[in-house]
Amino acid sequence: MGRSQETRSSGVMDTKVLEAVKEIVAGSSNLVFFGGAGVSTASGIPDFRSATGLYNQRRGSKYPPETMLSHAFMRQHPQEFYDYHLNNLITRSAKPNPAHLALAELEKAGKLKAVITQNIDGLHQAAGSKNVIELHGNTYKFYCLGCGKTYDLAFVDSAKSLPPICPVCGKTVRPDVVLYGEALDSGVMQAAINAIRKADVLIVGGTSLVVYPAAGLIDFYKSDKLILINREATPFDAWANYVLHGDIAEILPVLAGMFYPKTTA
Ligand code: ZN
Repeated sequence: MGRSQETRSSGVMDTKVLEAVKEIVAGSSNLVFFGGAGVSTASGIPDFRSATGLYNQRRGSKYPPETMLSHAFMRQHPQEFYDYHLNNLITRSAKPNPAHLALAELEKAGKLKAVITQNIDGLHQAAGSKNVIELHGNTYKFYCLGCGKTYDLAFVDSAKSLPPICPVCGKTVRPDVVLYGEALDSGVMQAAINAIRKADVLIVGGTSLVVYPAAGLIDFYKSDKLILINREATPFDAWANYVLHGDIAEILPVLAGMFYPKTTA
């Protein structure tokens, strides 16, 4: 990958880098965005792994969240699993923030071709994005373990008991999210790889890149316009051709030409 070290920001948001990246985005016709939890924090979705995130809240349960979000727990304690899922992984009041809206705008403008996300909150679709590749599933979608029929949250909300039972075949209906102890969907992974391979510009944002399979996926990008947007410097900054440190909900709208970020002291 061709590196352009000289254009890299030194930690404070560099106007020159921002302008350069803006121009790259404006000239792109096959931009792909790869995002993580940081994209949704401005929407009030808890970040799983941050200090204040979901994984550090116990909510009075005798099990840690990592256990409750595992395949084994879903099998062994289906009701507790469902209670936890509905109360912690679904934020009913959440709305798309400017980061989601900017990406939808870039897709509408014909520049962005795919959003690949580690998030399960469906906020990209809520913002209007059409091609969203959800690596870890979607917390608003459900499917039957017996016949595969898909269901929405309204169906689960109206269930007489948890876990909900499929009216077609009588088997259990589960959330369409990837749990601990489960593999990622190979078709979804392939779609992500294909999108990244074809991308002329790859923007990676709101992810620490330590969660599988993020780092491996980004390796499929072979061009020289890898842009990293993160609040803080990460060891992965060295991979990128351009690094922007700051709030992704402020930076993406600027890159999409929507408005300018507020200046904070
Ligand atoms: Zn069924």
